[in-house]
Amino acid sequence: MSRNILELVSARTVLLDGAMGTELMARGLPQGVCPELWNAERPEVVKGIHRDYFAAGADVVSTNSFGGSRTKLAAHGFEPRVSELNRAAARLAREAAPAGKYVAGSMGPTGKFLRPQGEFSEAQFEAVFAEQAEALSEGGADVLLIETQYDLREALCALRGARRASALPVFVTMTFNAFPRGYFTLMGDSVARCLQALEKDGAKAVGANCTLNSEAMAGLVKAMRPETRLPLIAQANAGQPVLGRDGGVTYSQGLEDYLRFVPDIIRAGANLIGGCCGTSPSFIKAMAESLERSPG
Ligand SMILES: [Zn+2]
Repeated sequence: MSRNILELVSARTVLLDGAMGTELMARGLPQGVCPELWNAERPEVVKGIHRDYFAAGADVVSTNSFGGSRTKLAAHGFEPRVSELNRAAARLAREAAPAGKYVAGSMGPTGKFLRPQGEFSEAQFEAVFAEQAEALSEGGADVLLIETQYDLREALCALRGARRASALPVFVTMTFNAFPRGYFTLMGDSVARCLQALEKDGAKAVGANCTLNSEAMAGLVKAMRPETRLPLIAQANAGQPVLGRDGGVTYSQGLEDYLRFVPDIIRAGANLIGGCCGTSPSFIKAMAESLERSPG
């Protein structure tokens, strides 16, 4: 591999990929089927999505392992396959990656709550994330990306678990809603609290993904920038999900409108940009062209 991903981040704006979930559905993943199962059963489809994102200009793609934690896989009866499905996720992205490009091992929320809201202890959560992080590292990830976190306590468990199990750098993105008093996670954590705690506990980049469209994300990046010295990540949704009559989901923000706010996101201080729900390889291609015109 050429250079370390952290060196790349310090050299220029880095382009991440867009959605995996909505792309899998577009390529035939039936509702209710575990997306991570396709790492084993439809590897060519998963690899094809990674290839499309690299071809669009992404520097980094995220593995198909967002729901690959033991707690999430248990919903499908796949707890015995945690290691297998996560290793396969990383391997597929690695195989799709051209020389000098990067693989981020994606880790989403457990889907459970810590005590007192839920049944889980912090030590249990930490072990869940450590197990997943270890498999993603073994499969060939370059960095671990803990994403869409709505509870700072859980995000810190994930960060500790990942750092315990792996020597790879760990990036963490939280998901925030916009309120008149500022931006807060579902559990009420403020931007300042989140970013400061994640930096203190050893994250190498922090930021936000999902929930907000690109216009709102530009505002959030502006609010995040003064709260950390770390590189900032921003991955906006393509607007809000809209349920179609056929049961399919589309997103409310079109490509043109999404793209209009990408320069604002970079100007506000984002160092790694990409898309979240509803974004596709065509969004990433347009973002790559926009970066070429005005590199950050
Ligand atoms: Zn999303």
